[in-house]
Amino acid sequence: MSVSAHEVPDAGGSVPVFRLDFHLHKSLMEPRPTPGIPPPASGQPHPLPEPVFPQHPELLGDDPEWEAHHRAALDGGRRWARAQILRTMRGWAVPYVKSRLLPGDFHPIVAYLFTEWKCNVDCHYCWAFNNSVKGMSEDIACRSIDWLHGTTCRVLALMGGEPLLRPKFAHKVIDYAAKKGFWVYLPTNGRLMRPDVIDRLADAGVATVNLAVDCVDLKPGLAKALTPIRPYFEYLIKKQYRYGYSVFLNMCITRTNLEDIKQLTEIAHDHGIATDYHIVESPMTEQTHFKHLDENSTFLRPEDFPKVDELLEWLIDKQRQGYKMVNSIQRLAEMKAFMRGALTEWNCRAGQNTLIIRTDGTLAPCFPLYSATYDWGTIENPKFDVHQLDEMKKCCQPHCFSTLNHIVGFCYNDARAIKFLLRQAAHGFRRLDGNFE
Ligand code: SF4
Ligand code: SF4
Repeated sequence: MSVSAHEVPDAGGSVPVFRLDFHLHKSLMEPRPTPGIPPPASGQPHPLPEPVFPQHPELLGDDPEWEAHHRAALDGGRRWARAQILRTMRGWAVPYVKSRLLPGDFHPIVAYLFTEWKCNVDCHYCWAFNNSVKGMSEDIACRSIDWLHGTTCRVLALMGGEPLLRPKFAHKVIDYAAKKGFWVYLPTNGRLMRPDVIDRLADAGVATVNLAVDCVDLKPGLAKALTPIRPYFEYLIKKQYRYGYSVFLNMCITRTNLEDIKQLTEIAHDHGIATDYHIVESPMTEQTHFKHLDENSTFLRPEDFPKVDELLEWLIDKQRQGYKMVNSIQRLAEMKAFMRGALTEWNCRAGQNTLIIRTDGTLAPCFPLYSATYDWGTIENPKFDVHQLDEMKKCCQPHCFSTLNHIVGFCYNDARAIKFLLRQAAHGFRRLDGNFE
């Protein structure tokens, strides 16, 4: 268990069940009725349109230029097509500029759409799924995208659970969002990412696939392994150049996979793709459905810290050698402080520039607070209040290592954003997947 976890005296001894201040936890989690989702304006549910497939028949099948693309990617010479650069600028840069210029506090840049809260595997550190919760309806997905489209937001991340549990549903959501100009991000554990699914999602316009793997071969308590999905991984990599999406490997550093993290980093580098790292975290709020709180083999213990420090130094060294990583060197170094519970405040923008939409259409500022009952409103009727958010963050920021919100907080700075864009331009937009450092 991370040392940043709070112990709750009346929780039966020394078992830390959540990391928030006890009083804040109570106020966020007290039983409340779920806010009602407004009925559709038309009075009728909004189904998602049926996607046409293939929209790009010429991209199906094998890629005879795969080897050339791959070599270009490995030597850093892969240039992005004009359409990809425009898509990235529309998704990130334009909303950022608008959010700086428009009056008011709520200008979303990134929205997480939790289409599922079920998962097909069980990673023992993970409390982010509950197989008794129904997936999002087409009506809520369609109205969420329509509502977001009326805001500054143009980055949509499907989330779960496992977003590919219903591949046809994911295809519809991606197709609808991409047609509305969203930069669509798909995280997945890859188990259901068959080649025909990859072709459909890529044809619909997915911008990036975040493939989550924690180990090379299956391990007790760690279900996201590369070996069972290796053929899918190879196909995903091969087709990225043809369709124009990007791929990165997302890994969670736990006490049982330190060597795997190194091997996966080398595999990603050999395939010319970036990596993203997280430190395993205990739940931010109490999760009654989480089954592995006791005797968890994956949570870090103080005796693991020196080995994790060594791994983080190894990763920093690899980044200095040119390995592509989403996390900046500063961010990797901060993980040492985080696992020791010594993180300082940072510029969290959750509830202002980022938000989550739960499967039922209710809103929350961020993924760590998915289970909070506090009323932040619903799609079409948000109720984020900057004073409540600021007060809350005084307590949760020191315990939170939300990667996306750290990146947005770090980049929500005109000088850094401009420097990043100038650096991309200087490289002919060859490395749009670089970090902001
Ligand atoms: S695959 Fe993802 S959502 Fe499913 S159990 Fe593992 S970490 Fe949780
Ligand atoms: S610091 Fe930000 S992202 Fe983390 S729990 Fe608090 S509001 Fe959410």
